[in-house]
Parts: sequence; structure tokens; C-alpha cells
Amino acid sequence: MRSPRRCSRNGCPRQAVATLTYVYNESTAVVGPLAAFAEPHTYDLCEPHARSLTAPRGWDVVRHEGEFEPPPPTTDDLVALAEAVREAARPVTPRPPEDDQTAHPSPHTGRRGHLRVIPPNH
Ligand SMILES: [Zn+2]
Repeated sequence: MRSPRRCSRNGCPRQAVATLTYVYNESTAVVGPLAAFAEPHTYDLCEPHARSLTAPRGWDVVRHEGEFEPPPPTTDDLVALAEAVREAARPVTPRPPEDDQTAHPSPHTGRRGHLRVIPPNH
């Protein structure tokens, strides 16, 4: 069962890409790449929260510079990635479902959208 790591901030649905670690004896909050294992005093953060983190009064923040990378993909993620790549490689983007209304115009308007009636060829 998949359980992608989420940002630990209340109500934040984004994927965690960084881990905040409070180093209490140095009064330092370290924002680094996502840790492999959750440990005490660590909090997973999404990128916006990692970048906007401010330390408590009297604390220093040591922030990882550069890009936060998403965690290494699991097998499931690889499958999802492959699907996404296939999706992106499609020459024609399928229209979103709500566009289907133009293909089935309501009888009240008589609109046929972009569809034309082709008479049979007798
Ligand atoms: Zn967040």
C-alpha cells in the first residue's frame, strides 16, 4: 500500500521534499533533503514550507541550498512516471470530460458544436 510522505504542516496536502530537523543542543533548525527515515524532532516539509520556514526566536536556520528533489521513486512511482511519460508523448491531448457537452448538444439549443452531419452517400 502506498503512503507517500506528506508535508507535516497542518492541512498541507503537498508531497514532502525536505526534512526539518531541530538540533536542540545547537538551537538550530536544519532544513535538508528528505530524510530516509523519520526520526524524533524531524518534520517532513513540502518545498514552499521548507523555503518559507523561519526559526523560533533565538534559533538559527540552516537551509539546504539548491533544488529539493522529490524522494526516489518507488516501484509504484516508476509505474506512474511511465504512465505520465506515455501521457505526455501522446500527440493529441484528449479533451476534458466537460467538453463532451458540445458533442451531445441539448435539444433545447440545437447546437451541434463542432460536429457536422455528413449525409449518407447514395
Ligand atoms: Zn507544506
